[in-house]
Amino acid sequence: MPLVSGSEPGLEPPAAPPEPALPPEFEQLIAAVREARPNDDLAPIEKACRFAARYHSGQLRKSGEPYMSHPIAVARILADMRMDVVCIETGLLHDIVEDTSVTLADIQKNFGDEVARCVDGVTKLSKINFTSAEDRQAESYRKMLLAMVNDIRVIIVKLADRLHNMRTLGFLSPERRERIAGETLEIYAPIAHRLGMGKVRGELEDLAFRYLDPAEYEVISKSIETQRAANEAYIERMRRTLEAELRRQGIPARVEARVKRAYSVYQKLKRQKIKLDQVYDLLGLRIITDSQKNCYGALGVIHNEWSPVPGRIKDFIAIPRPNLYQSLHTSVVGPEGKHFEIQIRTEEMHKVAEEGIAAHWKYKEGKRGVQDDQRIAWLRQLVEWQQEMRDPGEFMSTLKVDLYPEEVYCFTPKGRVIVLPSGSCPIDFAYAVHSEVGNTCTGAKINGRIVPLRYVLRNGDIVDILTQSGHEPSKDWLSIVKTSRARNKIKHIINENERERAIEIGQKYLDKEARRLGVQLARIQRTELDRVAGEYGLGKVDDLYAALGYGKFSARQVLQKSAPDQIVEEPAPAPPAEPSPAQQKEQDKESDDVIVVRGADDVMVYRAKCCNPIKGEGIVGYVTRGKGIAVHSRMCPNVQNLMYDSERKIDVDWARHASDTFPVRIVVHTDDRPGLLHQLTSILSDEKTNVRTLEARTDVNGHHDAALIEMTIDVRDKKQLEKLCSAMRRISGVRDVERILNQ
Ligand code: MN
Repeated sequence: MPLVSGSEPGLEPPAAPPEPALPPEFEQLIAAVREARPNDDLAPIEKACRFAARYHSGQLRKSGEPYMSHPIAVARILADMRMDVVCIETGLLHDIVEDTSVTLADIQKNFGDEVARCVDGVTKLSKINFTSAEDRQAESYRKMLLAMVNDIRVIIVKLADRLHNMRTLGFLSPERRERIAGETLEIYAPIAHRLGMGKVRGELEDLAFRYLDPAEYEVISKSIETQRAANEAYIERMRRTLEAELRRQGIPARVEARVKRAYSVYQKLKRQKIKLDQVYDLLGLRIITDSQKNCYGALGVIHNEWSPVPGRIKDFIAIPRPNLYQSLHTSVVGPEGKHFEIQIRTEEMHKVAEEGIAAHWKYKEGKRGVQDDQRIAWLRQLVEWQQEMRDPGEFMSTLKVDLYPEEVYCFTPKGRVIVLPSGSCPIDFAYAVHSEVGNTCTGAKINGRIVPLRYVLRNGDIVDILTQSGHEPSKDWLSIVKTSRARNKIKHIINENERERAIEIGQKYLDKEARRLGVQLARIQRTELDRVAGEYGLGKVDDLYAALGYGKFSARQVLQKSAPDQIVEEPAPAPPAEPSPAQQKEQDKESDDVIVVRGADDVMVYRAKCCNPIKGEGIVGYVTRGKGIAVHSRMCPNVQNLMYDSERKIDVDWARHASDTFPVRIVVHTDDRPGLLHQLTSILSDEKTNVRTLEARTDVNGHHDAALIEMTIDVRDKKQLEKLCSAMRRISGVRDVERILNQ
């Protein structure tokens, strides 16, 4: 039996789709990477390229070229920036999740976490729609863009992507051209500038300018070209003179002619309100030398040769620009009285000026930590510069978001950016959009998926708030929201609602009490109730009703004040003078309570079950609806949540002479040894403490040597409880004693 199944017709496995051949640009890409990073393993780049080519196969760009030409061109731009292998893989794969059936999980499986993270970042950025950006929003977008990425390589890939798209923009429809060019000028070129990437910024700006204002672009670039052609010989002569002079002075340097870019000329014309023929520095020279010292040396050589134009010498070496640009600038009057500008910098400064943050991006395998520190140092430096220079227009503070993540940037479905403190939830977002949206919020969709309201927002989330008219904020929201705006609005609504209910309850309560006491409420004048309200320090009758509803006063008191002649059976209680101890004792007994409510009698008071406070503990009263005053320990976690409404907080105190005891539940964790229980109970009997319940267990959570004794004891106050607990803790074999709060 032959083993080759192919010999039998019909059993042949389906042929795998032929792998498309890699385009010739691939070899050039590999050559460029190899030159920039001779020691790196480039196999992952080839793998990424084959992978992308397979899935993009058959797709075409608007130019008619195979789609793959785009990712390869992007990767090439990155290679020329000398970016690392991960970055170039990302460049090759950057459109694949968006435009093909490949998922992020596939990327992760084939290329690892780091590449997957970067591809994910670029995909997310690509999904953002900037069309609704107004001028004042552009800044938020730029901020958000930077905040969204936790790896600056994502931005660099995105810039390379945009650069190639701008280079091939001519194939798109005029509307799309204009939109993309506008976005480039507003969002991406400033980001490149802020990251110090002068070369990318320059090219992006000029390309965008060309599409946004073709006529103006034409005029300016023609003029630059004319001047360049006319002055070519002149500039070349200057260049040689300078080179020779520098050599004579022993300053190693290369001198380049340089032409100002069209968009920067345009900006200068607008800014300084001048005509094109008044721009002197369309043409210039650039000296690149080896050291800072030689930069200043070269400056001396220049000024020795030609006269400097006063006020045009700028030292950006001593004081770098916020994006760390360094150079010396001077303008001189050359032969024939022509002005031209010369820039002087070291090789290193030149690299930073052209490549910015990319110049600092020198990832090498195994040294990631150190390099990462360098990146952080760079960002920090940018931030510090920004602060020192007090330039509010600069947006370096945005990079701060990366370093100190204190803000989160989210979108409305229409693309408006909402900036919130980090940790914010959809409710904060809803209130930031509009109070009414907040008040009627019933749920939220994040990036199309329903999430719980306590979901913590993340940069770039598109937040769709679900609302329902008539819906009202819940008290629970107060413990989720992060912004004070949301908190205040929620409190306001809740208080308002509770007040309405309290007024209603107060009215009913007064009505009921009046009937019980035989008072005809209808005969009491409204003005009379107003007067009583005033007596309580309240403004209106409604406030009085609300106070009754909250249980702050008794209805009977109010009736006594407003219609004393109608109540017959009982005289009003005597005004409380400072009572004698005996009287006090009597009173305590009468009210049958150990807790005194300041400013009110005749109200029901009970100790809250959640914290079961005992005498001696700090306590606080909370006016419940219809159940009297709940007294909580000040340490009770519920107090924090309940006391949002200061109107319902009331001062309470332990009665001075209360002699009651309080049941308290405690748990004693011990070793499992004989005689221990006896020692514990003898401590309790020494203190004459009543034990209500007692239960002992061994084998606690599978620990054979442990025991657990749970008991309910009657204690007089906090002091006694503490005394008992510390006595128990002193018994050898007792590991811990804890009080169980809820009874
Ligand atoms: Mn792309």
